[in-house]
Amino acid sequence: MTNNTRIIAISNQKGGVGKTTSSVNIAAYLAVTETPTLLIDMDPQANATSGVGIEIGSYKQSIYDVIIGKVKLSDAVQKTDLEFLEIAPSSAQLVGAEIELVSLFSRERMLKEALEDVEGKYKYVIIDSPPSLGLLTINVLTAAHAIVIPIQCEYYALEGLSQLLNTIRMVQKHLNKGLEIEGILITMYDHRLNLSRQVVQELKEYFGDKVYKTYINRNVRLGEAPSHGKPILLYDATSTGAQNYMNLVTELLERNG
Ligand code: ATP
Ligand code: MG
Repeated sequence: MTNNTRIIAISNQKGGVGKTTSSVNIAAYLAVTETPTLLIDMDPQANATSGVGIEIGSYKQSIYDVIIGKVKLSDAVQKTDLEFLEIAPSSAQLVGAEIELVSLFSRERMLKEALEDVEGKYKYVIIDSPPSLGLLTINVLTAAHAIVIPIQCEYYALEGLSQLLNTIRMVQKHLNKGLEIEGILITMYDHRLNLSRQVVQELKEYFGDKVYKTYINRNVRLGEAPSHGKPILLYDATSTGAQNYMNLVTELLERNG
């Protein structure tokens, strides 16, 4: 992959922490700054796919066909309602890939190799990950330059984090030396809760300024947008959630500037 494409994984094996919401909205805000962006949906649940308005099953090829080496990545890419945003959609078949890949040589590198096909075509590639640390997520981390870790501000927020960090270290050691932690993203933040503030405090102690200054607040509109198949900026651009993700992308672009 050339240096001018930045590949960012949005990963955390914990379920429901805001991976997909963050993937869709980071990608969408990058796109409105006229930054050519590819969103890759690597979760068999396909929430990012429907989240940008693509009807599941309305396409012939998905990231599954790409991962198993059947088609080129560019052949699976779909347009979205945003001019600068394209998506490689997922499908439920991807569940099977975890098993099918096991027997393949370079099974951890299938996504990385597939990305060579779109080299230089996009400025950012944002990859949504499934809630597990299986082979699909390993493929994501092997392909990425950096990982954004969304963390929901709740009681068990930090549980499982050390397992994720161990996986990152393992990938750095054996598969992708250059993998960096791009940032720690605080999601579903509620400033009224002591607990939210406490979780943020702990994260800052451990990760320092890797923690994004922008927090994503708990916001009803963010929860509603997926059922309309729209990124928040097309659903309610004036909502707090929209403001949060816009600020986050500004911060992300500054860090990568
Ligand atoms: P999974 O692990 O199942 O893939 P996920 O980590 O991708 O989940 P999301 O799907 O982004 O998490 O979010 C979980 C749920 O919370 C969704 O219903 C989503 O719409 C909602 N949600 C995400 N972020 C927010 C927020 N900031 N405020 C309110 N609701 C949110
Ligand atoms: Mg998800």
